[in-house]
Amino acid sequence: MFSMTKNRQVWKNWSESVYCEPEHFIEPNNLSQLQSIVRQAYKTGRKIRVVGAGHSFTPLVATSDTMISLRHLVGIDQIDRTKHHVTVWGGTNLKELGEQLWEQGYAMENLGDINKQTIAGAISTGTHGTGIHFGSISTQAVGITLLQANGDMIDINETNDSSLLQAAQLSLGMLGIIVKVTLKVLPAYQLVGHSYRLSLEESLHQLTALRSSHRNMELYWFPFTNTVQIKTMNMADSTVELENKKQHNLFKKIVIENGLFWMMSEVSRIVPKSAKTISTLSAIGIPVGTETDASHAIFATPRLVKFQEMEYSVPMEHVETILRTIDRVIRKEQYAVHFPIECRFVKRDDIWLSPSYGRDSAYIAIHMYKGMEFSPYFQALEKILKQFEGRPHWGKMHTMNQVEVQSAYPRLHDFIDVRNRLDERGVFLNEYMHHLFG
Ligand SMILES: Cc1cc2nc3c(=O)[nH]c(=O)nc-3n(C[C@H](O)[C@H](O)[C@H](O)COP(=O)(O)OP(=O)(O)OC[C@H]3O[C@@H](n4cnc5c(N)ncnc54)[C@H](O)[C@@H]3O)c2cc1C
Repeated sequence: MFSMTKNRQVWKNWSESVYCEPEHFIEPNNLSQLQSIVRQAYKTGRKIRVVGAGHSFTPLVATSDTMISLRHLVGIDQIDRTKHHVTVWGGTNLKELGEQLWEQGYAMENLGDINKQTIAGAISTGTHGTGIHFGSISTQAVGITLLQANGDMIDINETNDSSLLQAAQLSLGMLGIIVKVTLKVLPAYQLVGHSYRLSLEESLHQLTALRSSHRNMELYWFPFTNTVQIKTMNMADSTVELENKKQHNLFKKIVIENGLFWMMSEVSRIVPKSAKTISTLSAIGIPVGTETDASHAIFATPRLVKFQEMEYSVPMEHVETILRTIDRVIRKEQYAVHFPIECRFVKRDDIWLSPSYGRDSAYIAIHMYKGMEFSPYFQALEKILKQFEGRPHWGKMHTMNQVEVQSAYPRLHDFIDVRNRLDERGVFLNEYMHHLFG
């Protein structure tokens, strides 16, 4: 997102936590234009960061040099119906992708809870949904076409180089520009979503059963309350017409999306002491209902109320202890927070920079309404999450430094080796990448 300030073009991310002033902002119309921009940068010593939809909370794409968007490199490129593989251009956003796949009789196996991101941006930070049988979106990428710093293209897949794939499936834009992604997909399917209220105690008691008996399961817990929203999704009977199966649109209305919640958030911002009451009122408003729809439509919820977010992955077995600890800390410190804490589950993978590397994970996400003080709250909870071997979601706020990153990601050195090989001049690095990775 760009705006003009004193004749300068200022870029900002979705949550407006990151601002920068790129000297050049380029949206190439085709691949050969993109290639010549990269070749030129390589020769002249310029720096490049690629931006997707700007939905990361951290300064991943911030640059004062060249920012490139693949806004014009979009859509499905190729379909392999024997393997159920679909190759898409990197700039395609998840909403368009879901609709285009649906038209072709396909769907992605799992998605996060919004659809504004680009496919390249989503895999580059390990964007995930929920469900113990599914890895992050990065795990759905079985092939990646990468434009290297010197302008050469490489096709990376399991057959030609599986370790390079493990590096490229989540690379924060550090290895080169992801021009195309090949996804393993499923035949199109519908989901039945169910939303209901449960006490925190009861949901922790049932947690193991809930996450294993539903295809997708997550919970939203409202601070200072004993109330949790449980959301589950399961495969629908695909033989029945979609229109007949649609029920009241209750499921979509998660609390943090309605206008009333926005108004209450404003009250909380102006009078932070009211946060506790607002959290309690919001918990009362948890929607109860069922909805059936195409998978890509049911995964996505709009996010009109803006916030800042931190999210950590922790080994799945620690989740109950962590939530109880967080409860104690919030009540003790009386943080002014009314946004729910979200908890999702992700299957282990073998991607080098993935927060789920080598372990089945719970992802605990903490939000604060935009404009309200978040640092003391985030820092206190981050301390707890780090104590339980937490690894940060790269696209969300965190304060990890290089030493912590090194100890949290056992394959980091392998990743850095690949990065140095593919981009020895550091064309695709920015200050933030240097800070995190050296
Ligand atoms: C409202 C909201 C809801 C969210 N919900 C979820 C969720 O449910 N689950 C979850 O895991 N995350 C979620 N996120 C985080 C979000 O999915 C990630 O931050 C994601 O990376 C954003 O994608 P993007 O297209 O906006 O990429 P950007 O934020 O623009 O970029 C992210 C990274 O990808 C790199 N990149 C982008 N395009 C390319 C390319 N073509 N080649 C190489 N590198 C590239 C960038 O350089 C950068 O390092 C949410 C964020 C917001 C604001």
